[in-house]
Amino acid sequence: MFARSYGATTRGVDGQLIDVEVDAGFGFPAFDIVGLPDTAVRESKERVRTAIKNSGVKLKQEKVTINLAPADIRKDSSGLDLPIAAGLLAAYGVLPVEKLAGSLFAAELSLEGECRPVQGILSMVIEAKRRGLTAVFVAPANVNEALLVQGIAVYGVATLADLVAHLKGEQELPAAVPAPAEELQAGWADDFADVQGQYAAKRALEIAAAGGHNVLLVGVPGAGKTMLARRVSSILPALTPGEALEVTKIYSIAGLLPRGGGLVTERPFRAPHHTTSMTAMIGGGSIPRPGEVTLAHHGVLFLDELPEFQKSTLEVLRQPLEDREILVSRVHASLKFPSSFMLVAAMNPCPCGYQGDESSGRTCECTPGEIKRYTRKISGPLLDRIDIHIRVPRVAYKELTSKEKAESSSAIRARVEAARRVQEARLQEYGRFCNAQMNHALIQRLCPLDAAAQSLLAAAFEKLHLSARSYDRIIKVARTVADLAGKEQIGAAEVGEAIQLRNDVGLQTD
Ligand SMILES: [Zn+2]
Repeated sequence: MFARSYGATTRGVDGQLIDVEVDAGFGFPAFDIVGLPDTAVRESKERVRTAIKNSGVKLKQEKVTINLAPADIRKDSSGLDLPIAAGLLAAYGVLPVEKLAGSLFAAELSLEGECRPVQGILSMVIEAKRRGLTAVFVAPANVNEALLVQGIAVYGVATLADLVAHLKGEQELPAAVPAPAEELQAGWADDFADVQGQYAAKRALEIAAAGGHNVLLVGVPGAGKTMLARRVSSILPALTPGEALEVTKIYSIAGLLPRGGGLVTERPFRAPHHTTSMTAMIGGGSIPRPGEVTLAHHGVLFLDELPEFQKSTLEVLRQPLEDREILVSRVHASLKFPSSFMLVAAMNPCPCGYQGDESSGRTCECTPGEIKRYTRKISGPLLDRIDIHIRVPRVAYKELTSKEKAESSSAIRARVEAARRVQEARLQEYGRFCNAQMNHALIQRLCPLDAAAQSLLAAAFEKLHLSARSYDRIIKVARTVADLAGKEQIGAAEVGEAIQLRNDVGLQTD
């Protein structure tokens, strides 16, 4: 007897449908799984056999071959338990074969036959729908995630016995219905309303968020760099439904969705420690998993203590910063993971941390050579991709203790969103969505400077020995400042502020 059912596994962030063919013939009692199964899948046969037995179904011992196709895709999901069990039961004639057609099964089985949730359900269901399947059977804890895909019936299956009763028509399961659609509304625990003082830094972060510019915060320990960085996602524009779905897919395959979770509605904020390995940063492994740059997709990647990271770990950031995706090469295939994030980096001004900070009462004891070695750890090409460099001073005691509530994140976000709408309208035809993405040609075309702005820039060029590349970066940031002010032409005020945001720190990149 031969039967076929559909399971799925994830590959990158996309689902991959797996054809489960079961052939139960006569011969020596044996149970084989072929088609590049990994350990979790090889162990499947024991779970499936015991689960079937404990569900009250008796199978004769026959030679069973289970083929997972396509053969070249590594099968890495315990979610293949349920399709294997379904195929097996159909091959033995317990279930009607035709009942499996057009359905996807994805759940791990316990030895008692209970269905357990698996990772990556969203990608699997998206692929199932794309391939024209009409129903998916998943563990109850995966139902909400599966329901994010519309136009395919979702069944929550508590046990294998329930699935058998349903497919035999003895006791039909009701199709799950989505809970009433909730507004995409994120609540942030961290709000700029709690940050006293730091007006210059907050202004810089508003400009960075508005134009999608990467930003480097330089300041003494305890100046509040981390506190500021943590709040950047709260002033970025709200996720669009499409972006929310992309982020949810990534968190689903990484196994990071909250239990029973539905859509991710907040922009991600990732803050990997400086000991993070290169693989953890960009993703990979024998079964490729998304790295920090992908987990930060559509959100913020915060690197505190930037010079403390391994140089190789920082260098691999250049590709995702440029291409907004990361290519992870593996033996079996190379995979692309999306990685469009805003980089927020922070560092001390020198190894001891107190250079240029008189208010702390401590003096820097670093030699010029030590400071140079410290800042040199960040390569020019990486610094080149960071448009805004600012100093974050220690907050004066008077400001810290002020009772006055600072401006809220939602008020700042409203201005950021308005500026983004202006940019989208201007950049749409070039396939870009924010000022940070403009190349030299677009800067020339879309950033008209008035006469005063031109002469200010020319003077700064002379005096500060700016390179051609920093020239472009200044104009990009000036474009964003003008967009926040609702001005089409860029004036001296905007260029002046952009020069300040570039030169505040004095890190030489060229
Ligand atoms: Zn120092």
